[in-house]
Amino acid sequence: MVKNTQVIFSRIPDSYIPEVGKDMAIKETEFDLDAPLSNGQFILKQLSLSIDSYMRGRMRDPSVKSYVDAFEIGKPLKCGTMSLVTKSNNPKFKEGDLVQSSGGLFEQYTLVQDEKQAEEYQVKNDPRDTGLPPSYYLGLLGMPGMTAYVGMMKIGRPKKGKTLYVSAAASSVGQLAGQIGKVYGMTVVGSAGADDKTVYLKEIGFDEAFNYKNDDISTKLKEVCPKGIDIYFDNVGGKTLEAAIANCNNYGRIVACGMISQYAEHPETAHNLMQIIVKRLRVEGFIVSDEADMKEQFRKDVTQWLLDGKINYKESVAEGIEKAPEALIDVLQGKNLGKQIIKVADE
Ligand code: NDP
Repeated sequence: MVKNTQVIFSRIPDSYIPEVGKDMAIKETEFDLDAPLSNGQFILKQLSLSIDSYMRGRMRDPSVKSYVDAFEIGKPLKCGTMSLVTKSNNPKFKEGDLVQSSGGLFEQYTLVQDEKQAEEYQVKNDPRDTGLPPSYYLGLLGMPGMTAYVGMMKIGRPKKGKTLYVSAAASSVGQLAGQIGKVYGMTVVGSAGADDKTVYLKEIGFDEAFNYKNDDISTKLKEVCPKGIDIYFDNVGGKTLEAAIANCNNYGRIVACGMISQYAEHPETAHNLMQIIVKRLRVEGFIVSDEADMKEQFRKDVTQWLLDGKINYKESVAEGIEKAPEALIDVLQGKNLGKQIIKVADE
């Protein structure tokens, strides 16, 4: 028997920021690594967990429908995981394989019970070919990276010489969206909520970066985008969207990726949506999970850009599964610089 620490969803939060101990609890259980496995079963040891802001949206009453299921009370949180197969009675998952999931369980060990549960997991031995850390497949080369890629390539359609503005630019999605703009020769401006984040954005090649908490966003955009905005990659919504619309050029495009400001209790909204008509803007939303056919090209392109040094990537790593609740709160409060990862164990 080994110790199996789990991070349990224990209550629907009363406010935007969940409470550790009340809404998310650490539970110590035991796990039998030597138990016999039925046909199709296998055991995973979690190596890294991904902390994503959208997890807050899953902490809701399950009767409220959304694009992703609500978490189940009393069960472990779910999000991106990178794991190692330690024992298997399933021919698709061999002992020693690295396995990725977008809906893996926040616990040290998982017994994957049947083929249905196995569908949540994919063998992802690529880190052994690329030499890149397995945790990169939770961020830059995982769902957040693919979100940036789909948003930019399918909707934004980057064009040399044009201006791209990215909000929440230091987020996992934002940092890649902006860098894709640079790969295609755009002028790229980003906003973030802390000075160390704006410094980081300049370091990774953004032409301009500003702290939206220090400035009037619309005035600042006028200053740093003198030719106007051609593509706005929106991660934030609300007042930031309003400021971006005010500074968009005619026929500009808005990639509606996320509206993190709207998760708050009293969100402020954009009041100039009429300008979408006046400026003939094209606003398009998307959900990354609909775009599986772009996955192969995404992995190929982004891996190559990274290996060629055309893009950079930063992780914020907390050690130990019991750090997951606080790390989620940090992400919701914008305290993380770079993709938030929990390191659970070494390979
Ligand atoms: P991260 O969790 O890495 O970062 C989120 C950042 O958003 C925070 O660090 C914070 O940074 C900023 N933020 C938080 N609250 C506010 C606020 N009220 N106003 C402005 N900024 C705020 O984000 P992800 O990279 O995981 O996600 C980025 C966006 O992409 C989110 O909106 C998410 O919902 C969306 N998304 C969309 C998907 C799709 O399929 N369409 C899939 C995955 C993500 P700061 O310091 O700058 O405030």
